[in-house]
Amino acid sequence: MGVLVLAELDNGTLSPATARVVAAAAKLGAIDLLVAGPRAAAEAGATLAGVAKVILATETVLADGLANLLAGLAPGYEHIAAAASTTGKDVMPRLAAQLDIQPVTDIVAILGANRFTRPIYAGNALQTLTDAQARHVLTFRASAFRPAAGGNAAPIETLDATVASAARFIAAHRTESDIPDLATAQIVVGGGVSVGSAEGFKLIEALGRSLGAAIGATRAAVDAGYAPNDWQVGQTGKIIAPDLYIAVGISGALQHIAGIQGAKKIIAINTDAEAPIVKIADVALIGDLFDILPQLTAELEKR
Ligand code: FAD
Repeated sequence: MGVLVLAELDNGTLSPATARVVAAAAKLGAIDLLVAGPRAAAEAGATLAGVAKVILATETVLADGLANLLAGLAPGYEHIAAAASTTGKDVMPRLAAQLDIQPVTDIVAILGANRFTRPIYAGNALQTLTDAQARHVLTFRASAFRPAAGGNAAPIETLDATVASAARFIAAHRTESDIPDLATAQIVVGGGVSVGSAEGFKLIEALGRSLGAAIGATRAAVDAGYAPNDWQVGQTGKIIAPDLYIAVGISGALQHIAGIQGAKKIIAINTDAEAPIVKIADVALIGDLFDILPQLTAELEKR
């Protein structure tokens, strides 16, 4: 029995999280990728290494419909997986309840067919667990895995099934942005409350642009109205695992650190050499962000 992965779609196109979940799930076996969306998304999914077959189903955006779709396919699979994203967190518990399975969520490492590592206590500890159930419902923290390579040409099979859904889709209100997706970006520049204003955050954005980075913020900065809610990183925000996190004017409170533990390198820019973020940073620039950021951005733009 193989692995069924739910493809994550973003406005009808395959989201970057899908390639990461596919790369993770490929360690468990050959993957059938369920794409409940347009054919072009299925074609993109078919190119991912590790995908044996794409199952193209009727476009379904609501969690109960997706859970019903997966439940219908479940008997053929030992592992059913999705990203630990807002979609995955909405769909997979519904599926697990339907199948009467305890899901294993937020996996950051696969140690065997039924052995996984996941963060617990808001990221303050890592738990290794063995899932003794016959079938496994899993969510993966996409940012913890490298994306699957392209170049594959898996066949696409159309699933002719009507999707039962008790909910009705009314509208989606989206924020348009050309900034990379925070949850999967390789570089993230994060700003804290000491940036001082929404105008001040333009300095963070300029540094981010010069590096092709996504922008994050602390809860204090979001609460102060300096940055939008969907930039919040941490225990109650997004969990990120970039190659590089640049923390600008961020103290490094436990709740913020919970969101950046997967970062491979951290650079802290802070006036306080004793700030907790400085203690865990690989490189610290001690000084005023209003002096350092314009210089840093100007140097990077010369490249
Ligand atoms: P501060 O802690 O005030 O730090 C500001 C830093 O900027 C200091 O280190 C200071 O030295 C430095 N600084 C000041 N001026 C300058 C300058 N000119 N140049 C350079 N450096 C300067 N927080 C999150 O971020 N994410 C979460 O998900 C989250 N969830 C929470 C959940 C709960 C239940 C609770 C209780 C709190 C949560 N918090 C979260 C809030 C968290 O505890 C901190 O309050 C918050 O992270 C602090 O944000 P900050 O680093 O911007 O501000």
